[in-house]
Amino acid sequence: MTSSVVIVGASLAASRCAAALRRGGHDGAITVINAEAHLPYDRPPLSKQFLSGEWDADRLPLLKPEQLTEFEIDWRMQTTATALDVDTRTVTLDDGSTVQGDHVVIATGAAPRRLPGTEGIAGVHLLRTLDDSTGLREELAARPNASVVVVGAGFIGAEVAATAATAGHRVTIVEAAAVPMERGLGAEMGAFCGSLHADHGVDLRLSTGVTGVRAGADGRIAAVELSDGTELVADVLVVGIGVVPSTAWLDGSGLTLDDGVVCNAHCEAAPGIHAAGDVARWPNERFGEVMRVEHWDNAVEQGIHVAKRILGEATEPFAPIPWFWSDQYEHKIQLAGRPKAGDLVEIVTGSMEERRFAAIYGDGERLTGVFGLNRPRHVMQYRRKLAEGVSWADALHFAEEARSGS
Ligand code: NAP
Repeated sequence: MTSSVVIVGASLAASRCAAALRRGGHDGAITVINAEAHLPYDRPPLSKQFLSGEWDADRLPLLKPEQLTEFEIDWRMQTTATALDVDTRTVTLDDGSTVQGDHVVIATGAAPRRLPGTEGIAGVHLLRTLDDSTGLREELAARPNASVVVVGAGFIGAEVAATAATAGHRVTIVEAAAVPMERGLGAEMGAFCGSLHADHGVDLRLSTGVTGVRAGADGRIAAVELSDGTELVADVLVVGIGVVPSTAWLDGSGLTLDDGVVCNAHCEAAPGIHAAGDVARWPNERFGEVMRVEHWDNAVEQGIHVAKRILGEATEPFAPIPWFWSDQYEHKIQLAGRPKAGDLVEIVTGSMEERRFAAIYGDGERLTGVFGLNRPRHVMQYRRKLAEGVSWADALHFAEEARSGS
């Protein structure tokens, strides 16, 4: 049966959903509402290879030219959705027009939080879009050896700091928490990731808040005031303090909105209304937890799952093992699973000192995660163990056997 699909948002989840629909034989209309002037592009290089100047924008598109032709997508460029009628699955656009579909896929992602008091000050950057990254890239290139202050030691902060420090800038990271990325990595691995910045001469200020910023007479950022009373000179300020799911356009739609679009285990928010990527919150039955995952791999898999659901193929609930990587300096950091604060951590190969190791997490009963620094093979090995749902005791036994070579 030919049906029509409207995808709101034009990033990774949307691209993978549209591609999977076409590959699965969907021959009805696909309309994609794209707020940006660019066709879908990949974001991971925006804080790394693109930001450093190593790559140009021509390496970023998510769809190849032949796919753009083959998929016959009706792109609504530089257009935002302003409302959704759930019963008729009709999306209202900012030009006042509407587009109706048999299915609507909400893939509007998330928007970066702003640091209060920085509005309108030149030299202050958020990093989410290609235009954001282009602006920061140009500014870093134009100011060699700049004093770069990064607020937030999460993914954006850590990756931008690594890229800027590698390019020879003087970098300070200011992080409110006592341990970087503790919620995702736990205290031990979070603290370890923080130490990688010190290896490269980056000044990491933990348990420190920003109380204000000061602009010069030229309207450019000049200094950042900290909660410990000190002031940092800043030529460039990068703010990476997390994101907020983009759901304001769904206010009043009747959908349940709670830090994202709340869905069922199949990523459906209402009949014919699906959500995928950073914006979707759903019960991951593998973990018995309602989650929203802001990682690349999740956007890919959730976009594909939604397509299969529309095609009538996905009968199992969406229950992936979250997984991400982050490239910082010469290191590849990877984490699979869903470790919780307080989980046990055991290094199973290598050591922190040699900057090459893998560690597993467990809650005493089950294996809950694996962290790797420059150990992709081990991360994949334990990721498979996570999929098997092995016990903590079996994971430790497996590690012991692997160590002794039996
Ligand atoms: P993030 O990873 O959530 O990290 C934000 C960090 O800033 C957290 O450590 C947060 O601490 C801290 N923070 C919050 N408010 C602060 C303040 N006022 N002053 C100082 N620190 C503050 O978010 P992000 O780094 O902004 O990244 C944005 C998005 O891009 C995320 O969705 C992320 O997953 C994604 N991304 C992913 C990758 C990757 O997977 N490799 C790379 C780049 C970006 P608390 O946690 O205590 O609030």
